[in-house]
Amino acid sequence: MDRGHQERHQDGHRENSTSGMTNRELPEDVAAARAAIAGAERVVVLTGAGISTDSGIPDFRGPNGVWTKNPAAEKASNIEYYLADPEVRAAAWQSRLASPAWTATPNVGHRAIVELERRGSLHGVVTQNIDGLHQLAGNDPDKVIEVHGTVWFTRCWDCDDRRPMSEALDRVRAGERDPACMVCGGIVKSDTISFGQQLVPQVIDRAMAVSDECDVMLAVGSTLSVFPAANCVPLAKASGAEVIIVNAEPTAMDHHADWLLRGDIGAILPALVETGLNPD
Ligand code: NAD
Ligand code: ZN
Repeated sequence: MDRGHQERHQDGHRENSTSGMTNRELPEDVAAARAAIAGAERVVVLTGAGISTDSGIPDFRGPNGVWTKNPAAEKASNIEYYLADPEVRAAAWQSRLASPAWTATPNVGHRAIVELERRGSLHGVVTQNIDGLHQLAGNDPDKVIEVHGTVWFTRCWDCDDRRPMSEALDRVRAGERDPACMVCGGIVKSDTISFGQQLVPQVIDRAMAVSDECDVMLAVGSTLSVFPAANCVPLAKASGAEVIIVNAEPTAMDHHADWLLRGDIGAILPALVETGLNPD
């Protein structure tokens, strides 16, 4: 991507609100990026929390993000606090009970990625999201690489027992404040990667492998500041892929973008894959 490109977008920023959420106008480079996707045999889509905000799940670092509004919430997502303090766990279970993920439905952004799969050009979806909405939208679960895990299952910290989240939530509803593992009595948490927790090496390896193999890397709704997931972008670029970044705000990887599409995911993604879906 040449600098002139980026500057043009910065100049054109007045067209988009800071969040990009209210403006349905398409950035001028959408047509060129669409052509790159149409000509690609292996597209990898890297998604972050921004693709799910239209489904009612807030992101962390956007203008209305959970951490932007309440910096203390970031601390509660840390594994050390979770393991050390039963009160932190009790609060976490209450917040899981109230999670918007249980009732959220996929939006046009998720459906545009399903359209790529239907066409046969989707090589993989590397998602930082834990909400399961790509699978719910209809992507083949084998194509979805969840680098930060999923809220739909629990895992025991001690014995690794994994089971559906609904079982633990039923126990919380029935009065348990911090439901212990049914197998070993250990500490149970959602099967997600908390801050301070090790990633799953096989999952990260797969994410890096598909990124290395793709000819277009489409990064959507992420600040691209969480590693190693964000590394998918420079890795794909170094392997010769074209990079398209769709986000309302600047990201840490904008300098790698061949096309930087700043604006509303719900407007841009359907346009990129020509699904003809009405974003409204
Ligand atoms: P982030 O919160 O750091 O960034 C999200 C980005 O998306 C922001 O730059 C924001 O401006 C942009 N955005 C939000 N809605 C948008 C829209 N409709 N159109 C265009 N841009 C939009 O997200 P991240 O980089 O994915 O990192 C957050 C971490 O937290 C992830 O690692 C993930 O594990 C976790 N998380 C997941 C979910 C989820 O599963 N839905 C939600 C919150 C956080
Ligand atoms: Zn256990």
